Amino acid sequence: MDEDYDIVIVGGGPAGLAAGLYAARARRRTVLLERGVLGGQISLSERVENYPGVEAIGGFDLAQTMLRQAESCGLETHYKAVLGLERLDALWRVTTSDGDYRAKAVIITSGADYNRLDVPGEERLTGRGVSYCATCDAPFFAGQEVAVVGGGDSALDEGMFAARHVAKVYLVHRRDELRASRILRERVFADPKFEFVWNTVITEVLGEEQVVGVRLLHLPTKEERVLPVAGVFVFIGHHPNTTYLRNLVSMDEGGHIVVNEWMETDAPGLFAAGDARQNSARQVVTATGDGATAAVAAERYISDRFPVE
Ligand code: NAP
Repeated sequence: MDEDYDIVIVGGGPAGLAAGLYAARARRRTVLLERGVLGGQISLSERVENYPGVEAIGGFDLAQTMLRQAESCGLETHYKAVLGLERLDALWRVTTSDGDYRAKAVIITSGADYNRLDVPGEERLTGRGVSYCATCDAPFFAGQEVAVVGGGDSALDEGMFAARHVAKVYLVHRRDELRASRILRERVFADPKFEFVWNTVITEVLGEEQVVGVRLLHLPTKEERVLPVAGVFVFIGHHPNTTYLRNLVSMDEGGHIVVNEWMETDAPGLFAAGDARQNSARQVVTATGDGATAAVAAERYISDRFPVE
């Protein structure tokens, strides 16, 4: 038996929690489905200092506060993995690992995962010196030396942000040529805080409680050395969690869902917000803004399409 809701939200990061708050406050029967830990990527951030109105808070605490606030307004949360969606006349069926749901509108906030180095120490030291967001975390490394991994626009953009705070940025890249756009390349080459470590990969992140360094492998010579750094910022691409939506909505080449300014996809009653959508700024504050917008749009969609008998 399907469970009936007005709105089903898929994914419990800041975008989903904000959408849940707005949908529940609109008095729509709303459930948020989450397969893992509520809070998404932000729950891995040790401190958040760029969420307006909150001077400093742990990422996990911020997410828990968002959850409590939304649940106190009536949001339900169920811990289930969504396997797929299907259109049923005017409704959507959301299939999960444990039962199905029917909804008038669905908001996709399943986010994105950063690509990881997959080396020893990385997972254990995430939030303790390993970070995937310099904009969020670089100020915590003021005056210290850090490594930035990757040669694309994100590595350079975020590396330059980090350079404003730290004493030195070692840019570790697996080739001897940057993939990033020319303007960013010119800027980092002109920045005296950058030192380039070419043709090199990180094979281990070192440290017990906090990062104290990285083990490097120079690919052409196979020489290994330890680089003492207090932080490691990893920017080797990311992948949106949208594979379960394949063929249902338009996506870009990277699998991000195409939406308009109301977070509407090209499928009726299906909205997408946060990092799963195309052109996201990938910040907590923009994700919550997206989530609120999607919920307002979903509410309007339901009022128009399902007038009260
Ligand atoms: P990206 O362009 O795919 O670059 C990823 C980088 O990581 C590449 O340099 C790649 O090396 C390296 N890499 C991949 N896997 C690796 C591994 N296992 N170990 C070590 N290095 C690895 O990703 P992105 O920089 O996140 O950018 C994604 C998209 O967003 C791009 O289209 C970009 O233009 C856009 N973006 C734009 C801006 C901006 O305009 N300011 C800012 C951020 C992002 P190789 O080069 O050897 O493949």
